[in-house]
Amino acid sequence: MIFESLSDKLQSTMSMLRGKGKLSEKDIDAAMREVKLALLEADVNFKVVKDFIKTVKERSLGSEVMDSLTPGQQVIKIVNEELTALMGTGEAKIDYSKKPTIIMMCGLQGAGKTTTSAKLANLMKKNGKRPLLVACDVYRPAAIKQLQVVGESVDVPVFTMGDKISPVDIAKASVEHAKKNGNDVVLIDTAGRLHIDENLMEELIAIDSALSPSEILLVLDAMTGQDAVNVAESFDQRLKLTGVVLTKLDGDARGGAALSIRAVTNVPIKFTAMGEKLDQIEVFHPDRMASRILG
Ligand code: GDP
Repeated sequence: MIFESLSDKLQSTMSMLRGKGKLSEKDIDAAMREVKLALLEADVNFKVVKDFIKTVKERSLGSEVMDSLTPGQQVIKIVNEELTALMGTGEAKIDYSKKPTIIMMCGLQGAGKTTTSAKLANLMKKNGKRPLLVACDVYRPAAIKQLQVVGESVDVPVFTMGDKISPVDIAKASVEHAKKNGNDVVLIDTAGRLHIDENLMEELIAIDSALSPSEILLVLDAMTGQDAVNVAESFDQRLKLTGVVLTKLDGDARGGAALSIRAVTNVPIKFTAMGEKLDQIEVFHPDRMASRILG
């Protein structure tokens, strides 16, 4: 499970702090060295780790800790707060103000985009929405069929026009279809590529300009670690992402991506997915994740 090793290491450092009556600067330095190593081993971006340690140390040497009767507890509280801040500011909500709400799903092939589109549709349906899934991957032979299969499993309609029409035209037609049929959310499953390439970006930019979606969500595989952070940076430079969905948290990823994406790109993680079943998706709460890591 993600963060297992990071969590173990941080928890043992935290329990060392908790046991101390008074803390010296040396104690804090020693603890911060352990925290730094644990974060680097979890594959968190180097600069993110450096800034994190600096902030925690500065705060820990301040009066809120030094004058406290339970300095160890105070440092733990600071680590918790700063871990939370690293991952975001509260729950990053979906903007449903436009009707229909158009959500463009993008990402590299294999990240879990199609599965995640169906998971999101499923979650939204449970919350009383009437989503429509749209098959805009006209390149990968089995992509349309795959979306139809997962759409059927979650009982959400799938809009397709086959693979002979341009994705921009399919996307435009899907919005008209949604308006006629009372669908209040349109989830567009765009094509993935093995690598970021210019054609992929141009197609996504064309759909973005034609539809002005409320959300552009990038689906990222947590197992790919720092590559996921780089992919997020590249997509965000061209598309102005509104959020990230981090998938495969059930794998043995070390968690660095989850802890770095927001800090590096300023794009919030909005959902996390963990498994192949179509109900395995959750709204992302930075504070809950931080508490989970620290135990
Ligand atoms: P796409 O190419 O980005 O559309 O990716 P797919 O949706 O086809 O997913 C690629 C593979 O990853 C499939 O075998 C999915 O079942 C699997 N997958 C997707 N999300 C998750 C997840 O959260 N956890 C795990 N373990 N597998 C996932």
